[in-house]
Amino acid sequence: MAESVELPSRLAILPFRNKVLLPGAIIRIRCTSPSSVKLVEQELWQREEKGLIGVLPVRDAAETASVGPMLSPGVATDSGERSSKIPVSTSDGKNQQELIQWHTRGVAARALHLSRGVEKPSGRVTYIVVLEGLCRFSVQELSVRGTYYTARVSRLDMTKAEMDQAEQDPDLIALSRQFKATAMELISVLEQKQKTVGRTKVLLETVPVYRLADIFVASFEISFEEQLSMLDSVDLKIRLLKATELVDRHLQSIRVAEKITQKVEGQLSKSQKEFLLRQQMRAIKEELGDNDDDEDDVAALERKMQGAGMPPNIWKHAQRELRRLRKMQPQQPGYSSSRVYLELLADLPWQKGSEERELDLRAAKERLDNDHYGLVKIKQRIIEYLAVRKLKPDARGPVLCFVGPPGVGKTSLASSIAAALDRKFVRISLGGVKDEADIRGHRRTYIGSMPGRLVEGLKRVAVNNPVMLLDEIDKTGSDVRGDPASALLEVLDPEQNKTFNDHYLNVPFDLSKVIFVATANRIQPIPPPLLDRMEVIELPGYTPEEKLKIAMDHLIPRVLDQHGLSSENLQIPEATVKLVIQRYTREAGVRSLERNLAALARAAAVRVAEEHAVSVSKDMHSIDAPLLDNRLADGAEVEMEVLPMGVNNHEMSNDFRSTSPFIVDEAMLEKVLGPPRFDDKETAERVTTPGVSVGLVWTTFGGEVQFVEATSTMGKGDLHLTGQLGDVIKESAQIALTWVIFMMPFDNVWIELVLPRFLFIDVSVYH
Ligand code: ADP
Repeated sequence: MAESVELPSRLAILPFRNKVLLPGAIIRIRCTSPSSVKLVEQELWQREEKGLIGVLPVRDAAETASVGPMLSPGVATDSGERSSKIPVSTSDGKNQQELIQWHTRGVAARALHLSRGVEKPSGRVTYIVVLEGLCRFSVQELSVRGTYYTARVSRLDMTKAEMDQAEQDPDLIALSRQFKATAMELISVLEQKQKTVGRTKVLLETVPVYRLADIFVASFEISFEEQLSMLDSVDLKIRLLKATELVDRHLQSIRVAEKITQKVEGQLSKSQKEFLLRQQMRAIKEELGDNDDDEDDVAALERKMQGAGMPPNIWKHAQRELRRLRKMQPQQPGYSSSRVYLELLADLPWQKGSEERELDLRAAKERLDNDHYGLVKIKQRIIEYLAVRKLKPDARGPVLCFVGPPGVGKTSLASSIAAALDRKFVRISLGGVKDEADIRGHRRTYIGSMPGRLVEGLKRVAVNNPVMLLDEIDKTGSDVRGDPASALLEVLDPEQNKTFNDHYLNVPFDLSKVIFVATANRIQPIPPPLLDRMEVIELPGYTPEEKLKIAMDHLIPRVLDQHGLSSENLQIPEATVKLVIQRYTREAGVRSLERNLAALARAAAVRVAEEHAVSVSKDMHSIDAPLLDNRLADGAEVEMEVLPMGVNNHEMSNDFRSTSPFIVDEAMLEKVLGPPRFDDKETAERVTTPGVSVGLVWTTFGGEVQFVEATSTMGKGDLHLTGQLGDVIKESAQIALTWVIFMMPFDNVWIELVLPRFLFIDVSVYH
């Protein structure tokens, strides 16, 4: 071991340029210069027992010092200065102006292996020496022996005995423990990377710690300065501290490097994987013969966009978006949203409109009359509206708003306007719209964003001049998500709707060619600014007579047509329709009436379809009608006629012609629609009871009849009102009370007024 090495007082010196050999480290040096070759030959090669040499770090002196050309003995001292600049003389005696700086501390080394090689072509001999560092020394005096240097040296490292004593020092024990822990950590990190560090662990357990410090530091790549300072750390504690610091630094740098590598590897492998998959996909597509699918798709989209007739600035915007799409891979997150957006841009009717025909007012009037019974004033107003449009197509007339209960024909009037103008009709339902984004769309930054209902509607009709019905405009409410009514204001304002900005679309769209018509059940909820832009046309509802007319002239033919029937299959006499109106509906409009008529038509359709089945089955003389029986209430008597043989079945199947029509009478009505829901007798019966009277209630759905009941009981004469009553009803009760007092001067009695469903009033009367 090094500590047992006897260090001679004089050593041949091998200069080690810009490098340091530390004790415990093993290095391989190629000796090529004549002086080092000579040194190896004389000090190591020719000796039987291989001796020791000193390895002294040297470096080029930065400045030329004014020192004499010859190396003079006794130059270097250990006077605290660790390096000295000494001019070096070459072997041939010529002075060389090269100045090198000698370090005054070096390491005695033993040659572990020597090999000799011939360097061509000059034939000069070279040696490869494997040296093991043994112990530090300091140069007392440097002198020249022939061509190489020798130095008088003194040992710096402690001897074994000194070491044993020093190891008792508690500071040193703590330091060495710390060093070992750090070294151990480094070993385990290295172990994860390469599995060959097992031997290093053994080293850690067997080699003394002061040796370990040198060995560990020698194995890293550290700067020359740091190597020098390690060499200069003769004091064990300092050496251990320095070594711990260097090992720790190395450990950190390995960790950081590892992290970076992992990151880079991760990224690389992901993109490589993608690349690989994409290549495979391309190969598969090529195999299938449908490669360049996406390319084709995008090209088709571009063609579609070109044909959309976008205004120049919007076309530019669309092209920018298309360029972005082209750069994206279909698997990329934004691809599909970008595509859907471009599809919308391409689908929107930027230029396309229904061809405007010369408006024939007479035909329009005829059409309105054909479609709607009555409503004379309203139809007149519509004709006026159309006439103004005819004279001045770009007139900023008011927006018509039909107000009335459900089923009075608001929607169908609007669609008649569209038909009269020969334009497409689109209905935008605004009922329950509370979010402004429903009108204006969501910004594209949101996930799942989509255009507003208006733009969506325009895309659906694919023309920019449809009749657009804003249905139930009174049902829009505002909350935290914005105010849809304010967005509608912009839509209905002819000044602003030229550049309507849908948030999703993000480019202005011209709505000025659209004819807006609105509907509402009530006027009150419509915000005044919105109402200001509209002309309200009220449709109050129909009388029973009007309903009858509407049913006979419009609803029944339409219902028959919708069910594939004709008057030969089903006949609903006026009297029956009247009964339907009286007993099965109580409404201002005719929607429920239409529904009931449709129910009758369905029953007839079953019968006709079954008859048809009978007619096509030969040799059949009688058949039961399970379907119809099921449909009708129990005990229904249905006449089934068996068709004579030889009837042209083909013809039959074409139009389901029946020999006798299904005539709906009162009995049939009850079987199909069930027992009557409303009874005229009810009022008469209820009112016959003393204290019962009739009241009328108005709702948005029309008028209602209410019964008011009054009973008298003994009491203190207080008025009791129960139930949730409005102020008006309460007031009415008070009026009723005064009337009762005036009319019935009884003793102290209670009078109860009972209003079924709505209120319950006790009236107490004082004598
Ligand atoms: P609203 O929009 O007012 O709720 P609709 O326009 O949907 O009502 O009308 C309901 C049905 O009643 C439609 O089939 C419509 O054709 C019919 N209708 C309403 N009023 C008339 C009328 N005056 N003449 C003919 N049919 C009518």
